[in-house]
Amino acid sequence: MLEGSNRIGGRVKSVKFGGKPVEEGANRVIGKEGTRLWDVVQKYKVSGKKTDYDSVLIRNFRGLTGTEGENAWTKLEAAQMTVSEIYKRIEDKKTEDMSARTSLDIGRWSPVEKVVEIFDYDFEYGGSPGVTSCYSFGIPEESANDLYYIMDKSGIGVQKSGSVTFNPPLPDCKNDNLFRVRLENYVSVYFKFPNTSSRFWDNTKYILYADDRRGLFPVWQNLEVDGLFSPGTNILQMVTQGEDADRVSELTDADITGEVMAILRRVYTNVVDPEDVFITNWKSNPLYMGSFCNMDTLAFKPVIFEAIRAPVGNVFFAGDSKLLIGSLPVIQRGLRGAESTL
Ligand SMILES: Cc1cc2nc3c(=O)[nH]c(=O)nc-3n(C[C@H](O)[C@H](O)[C@H](O)COP(=O)(O)OP(=O)(O)OC[C@H]3O[C@@H](n4cnc5c(N)ncnc54)[C@H](O)[C@@H]3O)c2cc1C
Repeated sequence: MLEGSNRIGGRVKSVKFGGKPVEEGANRVIGKEGTRLWDVVQKYKVSGKKTDYDSVLIRNFRGLTGTEGENAWTKLEAAQMTVSEIYKRIEDKKTEDMSARTSLDIGRWSPVEKVVEIFDYDFEYGGSPGVTSCYSFGIPEESANDLYYIMDKSGIGVQKSGSVTFNPPLPDCKNDNLFRVRLENYVSVYFKFPNTSSRFWDNTKYILYADDRRGLFPVWQNLEVDGLFSPGTNILQMVTQGEDADRVSELTDADITGEVMAILRRVYTNVVDPEDVFITNWKSNPLYMGSFCNMDTLAFKPVIFEAIRAPVGNVFFAGDSKLLIGSLPVIQRGLRGAESTL
């Protein structure tokens, strides 16, 4: 086995920050009983907490959004009913796949509260609805498990970058289809505020920030609210994805810190300086070149997945090549790929 870094685990990585383990990469287990990943969680007694997605509120720099935010959720939910109907029509071959943006538009959703949309789409899929296949939303976990493969286990970003070369070169159909997989970017900024200060942010699991510019550090996570960390730990995680994450990945840590602290100071009073900051940057790491995969609009076709996972001679392919539910199918496909090579 060849491993380019000095550790195993890839994009599943905890680091010690502010005296606590925080996740630099994957942190949510999607799907429980009957899945290989849940078996691993049980076997190794991995601790964690159930995420409460209803523990959420929306702020902009004028304050809490109140009814404006509630109306946006209601409107998005109605549009999502239409998205489900379109998904069904795609399944029944009554219409072709389309971008999530198009399906939301058909559902008469215009991004009034863009951050509500971001929470339901960008935060889950890494990319905005404009670049994400509508078909992605209907994949039941079981069929999602059938979409992957290995034995070149370097991630899709590394394969697309050309830093791993194949001799003879990979066939065109393999290459063309690999490029249909989007490697999205996801940047977390963790702040550790002094133990002597009081929490100045809201006491919900998620705080959504609705800036006039779409996607500017839209999702903040309070890691104390569900008991992951004890009260007074004073660690706040702020996340940005997609295009904004690409922009942020080019900045220095000092610039990012300045930008995010300015947002916090616009939203809250009594904001103190952090005593430590940790900023993730998977995009600039040559062993990853991005965070997790999303499927290009119109590329959600069995024939394309077939081409991506097909072996070339004795080279088997596995690993992350689709949605953020990544690590679950990665395990299934990794095991099957390993069995095929034996
Ligand atoms: C910020 C973030 C959040 C995520 N959140 C979730 C989540 O909540 N739930 C979830 O299920 N998934 C999540 N994911 C996705 C999940 O981490 C991946 O799907 C999964 O780790 C992919 O596993 P893999 O083995 O295919 O690739 P990787 O984990 O990327 O492992 C690839 C390995 O290959 C090595 N490598 C790369 N190039 C070379 C080379 N040229 N030579 C030798 N070795 C090389 C790397 O060092 C690495 O060890 C997240 C990812 C990120 C970055």
